[in-house]
Amino acid sequence: MPPKDRPLNVPVTELSGVGRERAAQLARLGIRTVEELLLHRPRRYEDRRHLRTICELQAGTAATTSGRIVAQGVTTLRRRTRSFFEFILEDGTGRLHCRWWNLPYMEKYFAVGDEVLVYGKLRSLKPRTIDHPETEVIDGGEERFIHLDRIAPLYPLTEGISQRWLRGLIWRTLAGYSDLEAQGWPGPELDGLPDRGTAVRLLHFPDTLPQAERARQRLALDEFLEMQLAIQRRRQHLETRAQPWPCGGDNRLQRPFLRQLGFVLTPAQTRVLRELRTEMSGTRPMRRLVQGDVGSGKTVVAACCGLMAIESGFNVALMAPTEILAEQHFSTFTRWLRPLGVPVQLVTGERKTWKPADKNQRELDAIVSRPPELPGLWIGTHALIQASFDVPRLALVIIDEQHKFGVTQRESLVRKGCYPHLLVMTATPIPRTLGLTLYGDLDISSIDQLPSGRGRVRTFVRASAQLPKVHAFVKQQLAEGRQAYVVYPRIEDEEHASGLKAVRREYQQLQVVFAPHATGLLHGRLRPEERERVMTAFRAGELKVLLATSVIEVGVDVPNATIMVIENADRFGLAQLHQLRGRIGRGAHESFCVLVSDSATDEAKERLEVMASTQDGFAIAEADLRLRGPGELLGQEQSGLPSLRFGDLAADGELVERARAWAKQHLNQEFNAPATTERAHPAE
Ligand code: ADP
Ligand code: MG
Repeated sequence: MPPKDRPLNVPVTELSGVGRERAAQLARLGIRTVEELLLHRPRRYEDRRHLRTICELQAGTAATTSGRIVAQGVTTLRRRTRSFFEFILEDGTGRLHCRWWNLPYMEKYFAVGDEVLVYGKLRSLKPRTIDHPETEVIDGGEERFIHLDRIAPLYPLTEGISQRWLRGLIWRTLAGYSDLEAQGWPGPELDGLPDRGTAVRLLHFPDTLPQAERARQRLALDEFLEMQLAIQRRRQHLETRAQPWPCGGDNRLQRPFLRQLGFVLTPAQTRVLRELRTEMSGTRPMRRLVQGDVGSGKTVVAACCGLMAIESGFNVALMAPTEILAEQHFSTFTRWLRPLGVPVQLVTGERKTWKPADKNQRELDAIVSRPPELPGLWIGTHALIQASFDVPRLALVIIDEQHKFGVTQRESLVRKGCYPHLLVMTATPIPRTLGLTLYGDLDISSIDQLPSGRGRVRTFVRASAQLPKVHAFVKQQLAEGRQAYVVYPRIEDEEHASGLKAVRREYQQLQVVFAPHATGLLHGRLRPEERERVMTAFRAGELKVLLATSVIEVGVDVPNATIMVIENADRFGLAQLHQLRGRIGRGAHESFCVLVSDSATDEAKERLEVMASTQDGFAIAEADLRLRGPGELLGQEQSGLPSLRFGDLAADGELVERARAWAKQHLNQEFNAPATTERAHPAE
């Protein structure tokens, strides 16, 4: 945060005691400047005001103790295959053996008579022994007070750097900067959190542990501020430069569209549509995220929004994360919009109804250069953002199931054309904290209501030994006319040949198990025509069971399918399981989801329990964030999240909110500065 030319930004070699060799070691810790040194975060703290005596140590609990080395040496075991270095520590209350296996060189770091701090867990009581403890040799000297009788920071280290040396260096450096504020550590004091300079001091040398935590929070807040400022600046930049297309529409297509749907929109859908219409005809390009749990009916909302733009004479692009979903949208929208005379085109990597260099070039020219009163909808995957695709008068871009697209992909799309309105639809219930970070540049609407008349979904966890019973149950449901999915962990990730073989073997078995009901197979390696054939047959009810890899995770919509068996369910993340389960419970019949798992780990069990206990997407997302952390949840790189040194997106929701509000206020002031120079009236 401090400007680059401030003294904190000087190389560490400016510090006394840091030469070339030390600088190279510090660089391995990511420390090149004084600023980076002062932001080196302790990985834990040790309260050295209350050390345990050796006789107070308890088995199984990590603790710190100290004493003097009374003996030490290396012992080689039989046939010289193993050895250990050991010293014996005494403190007047007892003796403690500290051992390091197969690290004979440890010997040179210690000497009989040394006073040593030791941190670790007792592995046996007779004699008291700790294997591979953390240690720190105490030497008298005038700097003793930096390391002892206080809460001492313990840092991540690298070879050649000791705790003691690094702690001393940081201590002396802090002492050298008597006024860190003056050295360029800006930022307000916020709600009981220390100012930044104080926070840096307390991070390293707190008087109490809560103080250290408040220091961390302050530094995390600064990270969030920086992030939020960047996000909101980008948006402001866009808004001031962008000319929006006027896309309010006149209802001449929407009205007949809604009339032939066969159902009425839910109040939530109607409310969100109203929000969208206001922005589509507003003075700035729309940048909106529509969140709605699986099955809440986002597609219809997208269709209406698209029709507004088309009524207004513009083209619309709809991007889906997978070919299967793009194909499904293509078939849905063709059914919905072609009767209204609206052209619908599919543009994917593998299959196109539209190709730039096709032999139908003349026909295409006719489409693209069509007069504006005949605009249409273009549906595709990421192929839509490739350079060759360049639809004129593109006024609205809809991104379905956003979580598969990263921030940068979203940006590249927006640069295309002339700042189209942007509508992002996501079913992944992103915890709010993450949403504010990932979508901080978008406004958010929620379809917070499912259409009525949906059968409920009951979820069970079963071991694979119970599969015969599960299959019998599925057959019974098939006999009643329902359809089923059997989900097999994705093969795309695994070694092609073996993964594919496994799923084919499974397919052969299931065909026998479920006969005479027909079973189909769907996976990501099928050719597009084949895939489409299978989906069409399943939709039409010719296939009763669909064995699928997680390619069906998003968007697939077959209301008569009411059973889902997910094999090796523990291999899937919570968000993914929720998406998968969202494929059922779409019709009026009661639905059943069976999670098959033999995994015994606590985390896996807890995940499946969460699934069995709730259908609330947000509760599931929060649990996922808690169990796996944000990086896992979204894929660190894909998510475009910067790495945080102090902040924790899973735990610091409140700080993110604060940072967002502050950044907004700050930018408003900055932005409106010339307009708000009016002074109070002199007479007042
Ligand atoms: P998602 O929000 O998961 O994308 P879809 O848009 O696929 O959900 O909608 C799920 C199903 O619900 C579809 O079959 C759709 O036609 C239907 N649907 C959407 N809105 C309503 C509504 N208001 N009333 C009844 N059914 C609806
Ligand atoms: Mg959808």
